[in-house]
Amino acid sequence: MDVTTTDSEDTMSVQGKAIIVTGASSGIGMATVQRLAEHGARIVFGARREDKLEELAGLLPSGRYAYAATDVSNFDDVQHLVDLSVERFGKVDALFNNAGIMPLSTLSEGKRDDWQRMLQTNIMGLLNGISAVLPVMHRQGYGHILATGSMAGYNLYPGAAVYCGTKFAERAIMEGLRREEHGNGIKTTYVAPGMVDTQLYESIGDEARSQEVVSAWHEHNHSLTPDDIARFVEFAIAAPERMVINEVSIRPLAED
Ligand code: NDP
Repeated sequence: MDVTTTDSEDTMSVQGKAIIVTGASSGIGMATVQRLAEHGARIVFGARREDKLEELAGLLPSGRYAYAATDVSNFDDVQHLVDLSVERFGKVDALFNNAGIMPLSTLSEGKRDDWQRMLQTNIMGLLNGISAVLPVMHRQGYGHILATGSMAGYNLYPGAAVYCGTKFAERAIMEGLRREEHGNGIKTTYVAPGMVDTQLYESIGDEARSQEVVSAWHEHNHSLTPDDIARFVEFAIAAPERMVINEVSIRPLAED
């Protein structure tokens, strides 16, 4: 997508912006890193699988990126990404909090370890990102914090109560952040995708359940590609200073 407008005052571009992306080793995060880097952004990215980050780095223009093995549930790891951006590029224009997992089970199964991992990754990961980057954005007087939410942040599905809970919580946190920080020049965006064809479905944990979910959804819907979401993220970050897209849902046309 070409997001360059014809209005000379409103040339929408991510060129030269310093952007941090979490969950960059696959899916939406990886596609977003590639798209933003191709269009001239400086990218700092992280996830736990360092080999995948290294492969991704091999596809990017040299000198315009930095990466580090990152577990978003660990505040120091996330702080390190923020520090990398400031050291290498002198600023943080945007932080895309995208890392997430979706182990599914019914509440009666009592999979407390899975729930704990989900809370730590999806909710604490977001909070760690906000907490690490806000001081920098306050100093700058501007910045943009984005989060990958989900349609599961609006709807409840049996067998996904805890995952939905984390995505509802992310939406609440992002709306709270908007209310607290818009006066400080900080933009917030909660992007809620419908089904996107990624490895997320492998994190369901139970192969039979994973097959069931994927085939039921594939039967009715054509899923989006990770780059479909990346296009929106680029658009949101490139928007003129006066404009912010706070919340958006992006579904496959066939999804109900
Ligand atoms: P993927 O599984 O392809 O990507 C998830 C990414 O998150 C991976 O890079 C993974 O890397 C990373 N990640 C997981 N746990 C951690 C952690 N503790 N610390 C750092 N990184 C972590 O799935 P998607 O691209 O689909 O998922 C991205 C986001 O999109 C998630 O928040 C998900 O909830 C959301 N989403 C996805 C939808 C879909 O249909 N695919 C629909 C709606 C929302 P690694 O394992 O290397 O750490």
